[in-house]
Amino acid sequence: MMGLFDRFKKNNNKPEAANEVFPFDVPPNTAALVCCHVLDREAPILYASHDLEDGLWQFLCGKAHEADGGRLVALKEVFDLDPSIGALKNIPCGCQVERKTPDDSWVIVYRETDGPIANKELSVCEICEKVKTVDHFYPAPKAYFDCLRYIQALVDSGDFEFEFKDCDTDKVKDENEHWINDVIRHVIKCKNCGQHFTCFADTYHGNGYFKIGK
Ligand SMILES: [Zn+2]
Ligand SMILES: [Zn+2]
Repeated sequence: MMGLFDRFKKNNNKPEAANEVFPFDVPPNTAALVCCHVLDREAPILYASHDLEDGLWQFLCGKAHEADGGRLVALKEVFDLDPSIGALKNIPCGCQVERKTPDDSWVIVYRETDGPIANKELSVCEICEKVKTVDHFYPAPKAYFDCLRYIQALVDSGDFEFEFKDCDTDKVKDENEHWINDVIRHVIKCKNCGQHFTCFADTYHGNGYFKIGK
């Protein structure tokens, strides 16, 4: 926990933070609600919501709060505190998003149109929203090869880059038609929002998936 806290402080002391372009399409002095922990830099922002009724933005640490734990500040102030909230600029009213740590990407956990989103975490980014994930490769291995080609196309499009790969997408089998490994992983990252997607294959048992996260 200490490590996380240190990194948070370091991130926010970056001198360039205050000079980044304010990305939201509302005035910088738009009111936003933060918790006392976020405002006092005692905890990172791990939860945000864009209220349905009044469009109010909330940025909280995700821990429990006393009733008087909220503070109204300018949205620009929150952005200067943590420019990574800029990735949320397009989420519609009625959305709630979370991330596990300041280094993780945001995922939608509640959306007015869907209710709580428990099993399927959706990206906040318009590019990532279009990515087609696969819960189980079926029929294997055809679905796996299709997915590898899809991932390569996403990277070739310029919207994504490889964060990790056990091998090139067309080299999961060696020249003798053997799988290069019992488990093979490819992780791609969205250049727009930083979201990760992982393609995992267990070639020994013949299953795998392509999911959000890493
Ligand atoms: Zn808090
Ligand atoms: Zn994205």
